[in-house]
Amino acid sequence: MTFQAIVIDKDANGRYRAEQRVLADEALPEGDVTVGVQYSTINYKDGLAITGKAPVVRKFPLVAGIDFSGVVEQSTHPEWKPGDRVVLNGWGVGESHSGGLGQLARVKGDWLVPLPDGLSARQAMAIGTAGYTAMLCVMALEKHGVRPADGDILVTGANGGVGTVAISLLGKLGYRVVASTGRLGEAEFLKQLGAAEVIDRGELSAPGKPLGKERWAGVVDAVGSHTLANACATTRYRGAVAACGLAQGMDFPASVAPFILRGITLYGIDSVMAPQALRREAWQRLARDLDLAKLDAITREISLGEALQAGQDILDGKIRGRVVVNVSNG
Ligand code: NDP
Repeated sequence: MTFQAIVIDKDANGRYRAEQRVLADEALPEGDVTVGVQYSTINYKDGLAITGKAPVVRKFPLVAGIDFSGVVEQSTHPEWKPGDRVVLNGWGVGESHSGGLGQLARVKGDWLVPLPDGLSARQAMAIGTAGYTAMLCVMALEKHGVRPADGDILVTGANGGVGTVAISLLGKLGYRVVASTGRLGEAEFLKQLGAAEVIDRGELSAPGKPLGKERWAGVVDAVGSHTLANACATTRYRGAVAACGLAQGMDFPASVAPFILRGITLYGIDSVMAPQALRREAWQRLARDLDLAKLDAITREISLGEALQAGQDILDGKIRGRVVVNVSNG
């Protein structure tokens, strides 16, 4: 059997390249479950993998795609049988194990999560790893005890994948959301998603003071660097910040002042190796708490071949909302 896939490889001269290829099923890696992939998406990390801009791919050749949704075709794993609807995020898939930008994937059954009732395979990838990470951030704030009555929640990188889903979730849960963006022209879009207020990301992205006016009961930060430092410096007494991204930079040029003078808490959010129980909770919550009509409205569908260009576009900040890759459309 053959299938189409986006393959990352190095040529004879060691040059990095990504291209669409037809593969035989013998090319599938080891694993106890084979999945017929229906949808994948383009995450920031997929952009890095497709363009080679950062060394996220650690094995060649490799099918790209850090997440997918689809239907089990074959299984020797006790939990899964043919016909089961599944979703996968992370675990090194699309980095060191062939991933979701191919029509077939073979993975460990322990990595799979059942697709909750009420979510289609397309909606699952419209949520994608970005949306699932946004849910992990929201759950961290909730577990900290941040409630809608406590005050504003800042969401940075508002027009990105994490940002759009975080705004939508928080808005539906009753929080007052302040969205920080470099694309103020999209303010109306962000308000329709659930933001009460939109601010220019320039307010947060330059080097700032160790402490500023207390503004946020909670923060979902997808940006890192000075933005994260300034978000911490302006978080209210005993508030919480959930940090998941590095769109501005990997550095964290902050001081301890907000931690030791205001008792704020900084939660690190990792989606890749998150334990199964947390993943299942996040996916159940997404099925329950996300406005799926809004999700559908911000989702654009592309073919497998178009994933190569979309990988560059996400790094260039040209993607608004969610892009799903209809993998069956080669
Ligand atoms: P996107 O590219 O979709 O969104 C990132 C957003 O950040 C952009 O849309 C833009 O928002 C903003 N941004 C971009 N560049 C800058 C800059 N130089 N300074 C300030 N803001 C900037 O990515 P995702 O939402 O999918 O992911 C966001 C981050 O989270 C990435 O760094 C990604 O690697 C990380 N991530 C981490 C995960 C984890 O497990 N921890 C899982 C998933 C993602 P706007 O145009 O509104 O300003």
